[in-house]
Amino acid sequence: MNWKDKNVLITGIGGFAGSYLAKELVTREANVYGLIRRRADGTTAKNIIDRGISNDVNLIEGDLTDITSLSGALDQSEPDYIFHLAAQSFVERSFHNSQETQNINCMGTANLLEALRIKDQDSKIVFAGSSEEYGLVLSSQEQYETAKKEYGTIFPEPEEIPEVPIKETNPLRPMSPYAVSKVYGDYLMRNYYHSYGVDTVVSRAFNHEGAGRGIMFVTSVVTNQIMKLKFGETDRIVIGNLNALRDWSHVKDIVQGYLLLAEKGHSGEVYNQGSMRTNSVLSYILVGLEEAGWNVNKIEAVNGGKEIQDPTEVDKSPIFGIKFPKTKVDQLILENELEYKLEDKGINVDTEQGKVLIDFNPDRFRPAEVPILFADTHKIQKLGSKIDYSLNDILKDQLNYFMNKENRTS
Ligand code: GDP
Repeated sequence: MNWKDKNVLITGIGGFAGSYLAKELVTREANVYGLIRRRADGTTAKNIIDRGISNDVNLIEGDLTDITSLSGALDQSEPDYIFHLAAQSFVERSFHNSQETQNINCMGTANLLEALRIKDQDSKIVFAGSSEEYGLVLSSQEQYETAKKEYGTIFPEPEEIPEVPIKETNPLRPMSPYAVSKVYGDYLMRNYYHSYGVDTVVSRAFNHEGAGRGIMFVTSVVTNQIMKLKFGETDRIVIGNLNALRDWSHVKDIVQGYLLLAEKGHSGEVYNQGSMRTNSVLSYILVGLEEAGWNVNKIEAVNGGKEIQDPTEVDKSPIFGIKFPKTKVDQLILENELEYKLEDKGINVDTEQGKVLIDFNPDRFRPAEVPILFADTHKIQKLGSKIDYSLNDILKDQLNYFMNKENRTS
């Protein structure tokens, strides 16, 4: 599709994915409008500056929780397409600020849909749902038993195990206030299509990363600390649960997916977006260290035991019937043969360039955890989507970003 001269409104243009999407649309010569919250200091969001698009986009001050400002943004931009990305998007924060999360994510989405319905404008809206909507995904009988013990009940009960890779038809078992808010938005989008004919498509993107990813997300937490280690600003990597498995895509691949959904996504439908890989947080750290110049030989628990030789060795065996790039530790975690717990205190990483300590911080462990995310993306692939970036490409971009001292945080 030709995006030239199309009017596009992006909510959350100052966010991570929103700014990359805006950049791509500017390149394709669309008229890009972005809803942005007023900043007390009058400055432009760093993401917009970093993407180099400050002079190419029309920023409209407004707030999702204020329907009048949304109505004004619709009048001003007269959008052919809307990408609704704005949200309180950090899972951890949602546990401590549940109501804030619901106000922005639920009421904000309701406001946008309602403003659109009342105006009867002919815009197609792509909503950023989330893989977090799936929440507790059951990857093995053993994990099912553990989850049942921990939570007392599992609803809905699985029809079959494993439930991975995750299809759009998988049960939704959201595990955080953030995840619940995205389920709400997802259903409301579809309801507005069915009830009022508002042209909506839902994307459930799995984690997407790259240079400029929010500093509190784990890929940034890891790469920031690896660069600090490199420059002697710290002596360890502090982390929470590193057994978690995530389907990490490069943000640029997800942006292509958003555009594809606007162009070809069927109204009222839901599409997964992901990499068709799943890798552990531990792998992200170890492969990240290797990308930054450490050659990892061995890891073992600080309290002794759980020793793994050549943990980053590439494992080629299929899992859940699918072959994708992963490490020896990914495979062991996926097969429930390896789990580092808080009692292990941390992990000593033995490298050719010396020892690196991975330190466990109990505060970083979540009250409820999503153990694995792994997308089945066949539905969006049928529309023509493909993945161009590898896990190492993502790591390289993030490490490069943190080479710059100004981007590193304490
Ligand atoms: P999420 O999948 O949306 O929750 O994305 P995050 O990047 O915030 O977290 C991914 C996984 O990393 C989760 O399973 C976290 O429990 C785990 N994790 C381990 N240590 C950390 C940490 O220090 N910060 C964050 N954000 N996540 C961590």
